[in-house]
Order: sequence, then structure tokens, then C-alpha cells
Amino acid sequence: MSGLFDDLRDLYQEVILDHGRRPRNFRRLDDADATARGDNPMCGDRIELFLRRAPDGAIAEAAFQGRGCAISTASASLMTEVVKGKAPEQARALGAAFRELAMTGACPDCDAALADEMERLTPLSGVHEFPSRVKCATLAWHTLNAALDGTKEASSE
Ligand code: ZN
Repeated sequence: MSGLFDDLRDLYQEVILDHGRRPRNFRRLDDADATARGDNPMCGDRIELFLRRAPDGAIAEAAFQGRGCAISTASASLMTEVVKGKAPEQARALGAAFRELAMTGACPDCDAALADEMERLTPLSGVHEFPSRVKCATLAWHTLNAALDGTKEASSE
């Protein structure tokens, strides 16, 4: 009865641990044109997000720094990878879809155009079983919205 689902769970865990230990795009962007700080006081996760936009407004580069649990770090790492090249509205739509994934474990109504990106974020879907960790997973996305809005501060409330 186990098999596939256990294997998937192990694979997801491996992705989270890998990105948690060796986060991608973990640096300051000196030429950032939008930044925001995110704070999840429930867990102590803090991130600072840097974006550099292309002339058409698309996210040319995303990077972050900070300190947090493996889930918040892995989520920020994966986010910086999947939002690269996205227009702001695409990035926001992806964030909304990811929040549904994190809270419910699925996103049945997600835009098919986001399927590839959602698949990359699926390893984090398991957090829906641990409500206190959902904010760890969504912190980076709240912070992304704050950076795009120019509000500079985000709290994972
Ligand atoms: Zn956390």
C-alpha cells in the first residue's frame, strides 16, 4: 500500500532539505530596484528579498538573504527560481496559487499556464498537514508581494 506515496514524500523531503541547506539565489542584489523584508514571528523566520526588474517590469532577477527554518528557506529559494522572468501579475498569481497549495495541499483550479511552476513548488504542499508551518512556507510570497507593492515590510499574517 505504501510504495509510490512514500517515495514521493521522501523525494519532496529531499528537495526541501536540499534547498534549505543550500538555498539558491542566497545573496544580496546590489542593483536591486525593489526590496522588502518579511517576518514570521511565530517561527522566527526573517528574510530580505531583492528584485531587479527588466525594462518591461518582468522580474529579471530575484535573490534573498535571511535566517529561518528549513521550510521558509527552501520556499524562498524555490520562489526566487520560479519567479525569474515572470511579469509581476504572473508572479502574484503564482503566489496566490502557492498559498492555496500550502493551505490545502492542492490547487485544483490553478491556471494551467502555471502548471510547470506549481509542479516545482509541490514539494512544499505537505505543509498543509502542519498548519503552524504554513506561514513558514508562504513568508517568501508575502514578501514578494510587498516588494512588488513597494511596501517594504511583510508579516506572514
Ligand atoms: Zn519557519
